[in-house]
Amino acid sequence: VRRNPGEAEFHQAVREVFESLEPVVAKHPQYADEEIIRRLCEPERQIIFRVPWTDDAGHVQLNRGFRVEFNSALGPYKGGLRFHPSVYLGIVKFLGFEQIFKNALTGMPIGGGKGGSDFDPKGRSNGEIMRFCQSFMTELYRHLGEHTDVPAGDIGVGGREIGYLFGQYKRITNRYESGVLTGKGLTWGGSQVRTEATGYGVVFFVDEMLRDAGDSLDGKRVVVSGSGNVAIYAIEKVHQLGGVVVACSDSAGYVVDEAGIDLELLKDIKNTRRGRMSDYADERPGTRFIEGGSIWDVPCDIALPCATQNELDADAAAALARGGCTIVAEGANMPTTPDAIRTLREAGVRFAPGKAVNAGGVATSALEMQQNASRDSWTFAHTEERLEQIMRSIHDRCLETADEYGVPGDYVAGANIAGFIHVADAMMALGHI
Ligand code: NDP
Repeated sequence: VRRNPGEAEFHQAVREVFESLEPVVAKHPQYADEEIIRRLCEPERQIIFRVPWTDDAGHVQLNRGFRVEFNSALGPYKGGLRFHPSVYLGIVKFLGFEQIFKNALTGMPIGGGKGGSDFDPKGRSNGEIMRFCQSFMTELYRHLGEHTDVPAGDIGVGGREIGYLFGQYKRITNRYESGVLTGKGLTWGGSQVRTEATGYGVVFFVDEMLRDAGDSLDGKRVVVSGSGNVAIYAIEKVHQLGGVVVACSDSAGYVVDEAGIDLELLKDIKNTRRGRMSDYADERPGTRFIEGGSIWDVPCDIALPCATQNELDADAAAALARGGCTIVAEGANMPTTPDAIRTLREAGVRFAPGKAVNAGGVATSALEMQQNASRDSWTFAHTEERLEQIMRSIHDRCLETADEYGVPGDYVAGANIAGFIHVADAMMALGHI
């Protein structure tokens, strides 16, 4: 805390991992001797830069850009870019730190990093978004490369922004280096299933949790927070597997739709028109929009927080348990507060952390890198099958590791320990880097 003052989210993420690692260090003192944990907490490199751009009225605007290159023991830094006004160093570091373990858990050759800006895309024109992305990349390009650092999207960064970023990278470097960014469009180096991957992966993971208990998604009532990339494709896969999503949200409020969220309408509003959940309620008969309030008051069997960090607190956890919820699986990064996790556990609700549950996005990014490196492109069905296998094997790895360390059924400990051992062993093999 003294070394990284004021970075509350980073402290929270580190504390959660540390708590899980006590049995590991007890069993394998070499990790303590090698100061692996302290080295893991210090990013290899942190880049902070000025992003000036011109708005439609001709005024100069100024934002701050970040890229935290956290750990490259397993491969090039890999992790998304977030454009949201709440972004500051503490957020980027918490996300980058989590990314190290998540990427290790996928079993793929990728290190951990994260970046972004305090730029607020809301209400900005297409031209403004493009000029911002171009200015952002004008500094960032010198730190990237397919063997060095490979960003992707996150909150506020989707296919459109990746396109503008890639265009500027190509223009400055005079290299069509497809492997430098993931989440690209299908006609210019992108992978099938990348858009859907995080949300689909979340639901494959939950399906595996249910199977493990001799159950299935069929007929389950599900609540999903958010209505962005992760939420939309989590809803789609829940519906494909026989569940029904009865509520989703944005930062202004939530919609309850007992008939099941109409995905065509939701995609049209969010992806095409860039509208709001209140528009959904206006256009869909029989639904209600609740401004403010907590989506976790809606009774459900399964809750999937897919919006942002710390969106599910202890009161919300208690409400979920009262409403009969039996599984909470994190689609977003760290959406559940530590108090909420305790409350869920005490109430017997099974809980699975984002670094395992939402790893399908980055895993499919690694599949995109593989396709770019071999100048190949795979079919949707083949790529989705790979994603499904990866998610089911992450699930099993979490449970096996939890068993091995005497905390059966503890997905948090299982994910933290399995990810840690993978990256720690590589760090030791590479010497004191
Ligand atoms: P999007 O920008 O597509 O969507 C974010 C959604 O969350 C929007 O509905 C947004 O509502 C809502 N939201 C964002 N900030 C807040 C806030 N402070 N309070 C309430 N609601 C908020 O982002 P993604 O779907 O890509 O990301 C969602 C989460 O998933 C993040 O935690 C991200 O780190 C994580 N994630 C994403 C991956 C990916 O592949 N995209 C991979 C792994 C994790 P509004 O429009 O009103 O702001």
